[in-house]
Amino acid sequence: MKNHPKYERTLVIIKPDGVQRTLVGEIIRRYERTGLKLAAIKMCVPTAEMVERHYTLDPEWRLKTGLKSIKGYTDKNLTPPHTDPLKVTEIVLKNLTKYLTSGPVIAMVWQGAHAVELVRKITGGTEPRTSDVGTIRGDYVLDSYVMSDVDGRAVRNLVHASGSVKEAEDEIAHWFKKSEIMDYNIVSDKILYDVNLDGILE
Ligand code: ADP
Ligand code: MG
Repeated sequence: MKNHPKYERTLVIIKPDGVQRTLVGEIIRRYERTGLKLAAIKMCVPTAEMVERHYTLDPEWRLKTGLKSIKGYTDKNLTPPHTDPLKVTEIVLKNLTKYLTSGPVIAMVWQGAHAVELVRKITGGTEPRTSDVGTIRGDYVLDSYVMSDVDGRAVRNLVHASGSVKEAEDEIAHWFKKSEIMDYNIVSDKILYDVNLDGILE
């Protein structure tokens, strides 16, 4: 029954700063310990085309990202670089491409109930300055829109995580071939999902 919630999948990318900061193990541990199952993993240096395509798979992403960025500025009484959200996104995308092609990244597929929502919760909000304590972006890095603007670069926040189930499906297909994604049983699946829990007692 592949439409059971336990088959939900999401894409995570440990960005070049995550690899350089030697946080690969720590980041994987945070997702792994929730009970989510690693279904695929690889290291690569993405091309500019890979990155641009990744972010524009969702036709709404340009507008959403521009509006979210503008809100980030106005919430702090700062002036956004443009009032047009699409112009803001154009700058973000150019800087993002430079950021993500700067070195190796780790791309992963995580599977389990509510995978998309859980991974976003553990990852934290986009801007590390305001990401919650206890999240990866809140605990392991200190970047902000103010700093990224001063230096004309993307905000460095260690990881990418898909924003919705649909985004996850498109992104997984963009980064992985079907044959690279593993369907397998893991012992812990039993305690997480087995309905009857029969088989524990001898
Ligand atoms: P998220 O990664 O939290 O889903 P978005 O999809 O909105 O965030 O943006 C993609 C990435 O672009 C972010 O993770 C961040 O690295 C960068 N970014 C987004 N908005 C800005 C901004 N206003 N200034 C600099 N970098 C940004
Ligand atoms: Mg996003």
